[in-house]
Amino acid sequence: MKDKDSLPQTAGINTRLTHIGNDPFDYHGFVNPPVVHASTVLFPNAATMEKRSQKYTYGTRGTPTTDALCDAIDALEGSAGTILVPSGLAAVTIPFLGFSAAGDHVLVVDSIYGPTRHFCDTMLKRLGVEVEYYDPAIGAGIEGLFRPNTKIVHTEAPGSNTFEMQDIPAISAVAHRHGAVVMMDNTWATPLYFRPLDHGVDISIHAATKYPSGHSDILLGTVSANAEHWERLKEANGALGICGAPDDAYQILRGLRSMGLRLERHYESALDIAEWLEGREGVARVLHPALPSFPSHNIWKRDFKGASGIFSFILAAESPQKFKARAHAFLDALRIFGLGYSWGGFESLALHANLNDRKIAKAPKEGPVIRLQVGLEDVADLKADIERGFAAANAV
Ligand SMILES: *Cc1c(COP(=O)(O)O)cnc(C)c1O
Repeated sequence: MKDKDSLPQTAGINTRLTHIGNDPFDYHGFVNPPVVHASTVLFPNAATMEKRSQKYTYGTRGTPTTDALCDAIDALEGSAGTILVPSGLAAVTIPFLGFSAAGDHVLVVDSIYGPTRHFCDTMLKRLGVEVEYYDPAIGAGIEGLFRPNTKIVHTEAPGSNTFEMQDIPAISAVAHRHGAVVMMDNTWATPLYFRPLDHGVDISIHAATKYPSGHSDILLGTVSANAEHWERLKEANGALGICGAPDDAYQILRGLRSMGLRLERHYESALDIAEWLEGREGVARVLHPALPSFPSHNIWKRDFKGASGIFSFILAAESPQKFKARAHAFLDALRIFGLGYSWGGFESLALHANLNDRKIAKAPKEGPVIRLQVGLEDVADLKADIERGFAAANAV
C-alpha cells in the first residue's frame, strides 16, 4: 500500500522496484515482509466470523506475504487487482476459465506459447468453447473474425519463439467495440518494458517464473486486471482454489528488487548478440523485435520501452532434410548455453524451436529456428560459445 499512497508514480523504475509492495513499518521495520504460512485464520468473535469482516479470513484468500507481492505487481501494472497462481501456465488458463463459457468463441494469436495452445485445444474445447487462431500481424483486421459470441481475444507479444509483435491498441479497440475481454501474456517484456493496461488490455498475464524470479528456481504466475474485470477474475481464482504459495511470493518479491538492473543487462547483451548474428554467414535471419530489420519492429518501437534477453535466429540450411541435424550439431557444441526451456534466469540457454503446431504463422523455410536466452554472462564468452556452435553446424 505504501507505494500507492506515498511513492510518486513519477519516481524512476528502479526506485519504485526498490520500495513497492510491503511497508517495512507494518512489521517492526524489517525491510522484507514476513513469510506467513497459513490455512486457518482466527476471528475474535462469532459476529466477525459470520460477516468475514476482517482483512484475512483463510489461507487461500491471501496473506500479508502474498498481498505484498500483489501490491507490488499492481503498482507496476497499474491494475486494480492481481491474483497469484502456482505457475505462468495457470496464469493463462485461469482467466480463460473465468471469462468464457460453453458456446463462446475465443480468438487466440497463432504465435502463442505452446502449452497455452494445448490448453485451448483440449480442455477449453471440451468445455464447449470454440477456439480460433489468428495471424499475429492482423492488427485492426481482427474485426473480420468477430462473431456475436466472441468473448475473449488472447494476445501475446512478442509471440513465443518467433517474436512477432502485435498491434495491441488496435486489437483492443476492436475487441472492446464487440464487448470482448482482451488478455495479454506479457511475460517477455515484463511491466518494465510494456504496461498492457495502458494500451487497452483488460487482463495482463505474467509467468513470474521468468524475469521476476530471475534465478531459474521458482514457479509462479500473476494475473492483473483493470477495475472493470477485477471482481470476476478474483471470483474465478477463489472458485478454483488455485493460489500461489507464500514462500514463492516472497522469492518473487525479492527478485523484483533487482529486476530492473538484470533486465538492462539482458537487453543490452541480447541485442549485442542479435546485431552480431545479423548478416553473419550461416544465419538466414534474426528474429528480435528491437532490430530495425524485423518486420514488426515499428510496433515495438512505438509501444515498448525495452527488450528482454530472449530472441531467435534462423540457422541457414540448404534443405529441410538438414534442419534437425544442423540444429542439433549447433546445440550440442555449446558449452556455456545450456539446453533448457524455462528462461528469464541468470544463465544462458538455447533450444531448437518446434513450430509444427502453427496454423498461420508457419515455421520459416530457410532453416531451423534456434532460440537463445541470453543470460548475465560476459558477452565475449557467449559469442565464443556461439562460434563453437556454428563450427559444428557448418560441418553437417
Ligand atoms: C514460460 C511461459 C509461460 C508459463 O510459465 P510457467 O511458470 O513455466 O508455467 C507462460 N507464457 C509464456 C509466454 C512463457 O514464456
